[in-house]
Amino acid sequence: MRYISTRDKKVSLTAAEAIAMGLSRDGGLFVPEVVPALADGAIESLCGMNYQQRAVYVMKMYLDDYSVSELNDFTQRGYGPAKFDSPTVAPVYKLDGNTHFLELWHGPTCAFKDMALQMLPYFLTSALVKTGEKKQACILVATSGDTGKAALEGFKDVDRVKIMVFYPRDGVSDIQKLQMTSQSGKNVGVCSVIGNFDDAQNGVKKMFSDPDLRDELAQAGYFLSSANSINWGRLLPQIVYYISAYCDLVNAGDIKNGDKINFCVPTGNFGDILAGYYAKCMGLPVNKLICASNSNDVLTDFIKTGTYDRNRKFYTTISPSMDILLSSNLERLLFILSGGNDAETAEYMRLLSSDGKYTVSDEIKRAVSEEFACSCCDDGETRAAICRVFREHGYLMDTHTAVAYDALNKYRAETGDDTVSVVVSTASAYKFCGSVLEALGESADMDGLALIDRLEQVTGTEAPAPLKSLKNKTVRFTDFAKKDGMETVVKEFLS
Ligand SMILES: *Cc1c(COP(=O)(O)O)cnc(C)c1O
Repeated sequence: MRYISTRDKKVSLTAAEAIAMGLSRDGGLFVPEVVPALADGAIESLCGMNYQQRAVYVMKMYLDDYSVSELNDFTQRGYGPAKFDSPTVAPVYKLDGNTHFLELWHGPTCAFKDMALQMLPYFLTSALVKTGEKKQACILVATSGDTGKAALEGFKDVDRVKIMVFYPRDGVSDIQKLQMTSQSGKNVGVCSVIGNFDDAQNGVKKMFSDPDLRDELAQAGYFLSSANSINWGRLLPQIVYYISAYCDLVNAGDIKNGDKINFCVPTGNFGDILAGYYAKCMGLPVNKLICASNSNDVLTDFIKTGTYDRNRKFYTTISPSMDILLSSNLERLLFILSGGNDAETAEYMRLLSSDGKYTVSDEIKRAVSEEFACSCCDDGETRAAICRVFREHGYLMDTHTAVAYDALNKYRAETGDDTVSVVVSTASAYKFCGSVLEALGESADMDGLALIDRLEQVTGTEAPAPLKSLKNKTVRFTDFAKKDGMETVVKEFLS
């Protein structure tokens, strides 16, 4: 299978090449030339498999240059009991008759980014061998909090890789910050940026598209690679859990094979929900994909109007991993829905960078509103959802999951659609203790670690082990940079 750039279809690579490169030189994102279809009977077979086997089955459809035995090895290690505290890896929790939560936070960093970042390092190191690359990879990451830690955990002490993570200084929670600044590993670097997530992400993107920097690093024996959700190796493992959740619902008798279901996804960079869209394109019976946003509702407006306009106020919310005005993965959706029109996609992206906005064609607009629904909520509504679900069901949601839950309720109220729906639960509530405690009407006036104990007491639930163990960690990284100083940080890191 070939991978092509969304901005120039003539750029055509193998999966290994696309994963090693991350982002195309023309600024485009790699997409599979054709989306493989689930064969007749595939869902039945997948229902009889465990998560690791399902992952191998689905990923192999996209990675024909990787062997099944390689993929078996990756999934055994990446999704094994040493990394995930649930034997089913991504369990589905039933809240009521037609509402379920797909829990994607049982991995080492307690957020859904682990699902992909436990695979990407294996994809990448193996890609270096397959492509005959002699240089070392330098992974640059801009993070709104969860990606950074998950990437550090995935890549720490991996041979032939160095990883540098930039996070917005005022845009992550105490616990997220401590998770990153206490990271172990001899090949890791962490630095805060004075600015918001988009500043950090733009800084990283700029380095990727700078030919002088590329030459300079090549001479030092490095090439830049990405662990952000623009890398195909990040997106692919996320397709698996949509299909897996569907199988779990079939196995539990909640749906019959063939029934359509909705997925409601707390969205930032549009990676998670796009993976759901790929699953649907493969033939998974999906009715609507509901795109949930916080007060940064650029995607809600886009889905409703066909105009993407990032010229708006940026809000710092209690669901920080969704505080994003530039949803990079939307580019892939535009490419697919334009019928693979690279010139059209490139033009939207040019307008986005020159004017901060673009309006899609009527065809794309129509297709978007057929496939997707959308809703947004503010922090008050997020807190109310956390409180209500805990009081009524004893189920504890994190702030991001709560945004999605609220969106599902609004969608149901607006449309009357009572299709079985899966809320994609993207983080443990313990990653956002302060906000969750406040939502429950408790004081959160204490340091990040004391909050973990407090949330345990208040809810009678148990914090995940990786977060509890933060108590014994020391801070290793205290560097910060201005947005125009990020390149210097990288050069120093590699020297
Ligand atoms: C990254 C993240 C999201 C947003 O996912 P995208 O793929 O960027 O849309 C939502 N919730 C949490 C907890 C996250 O870490």
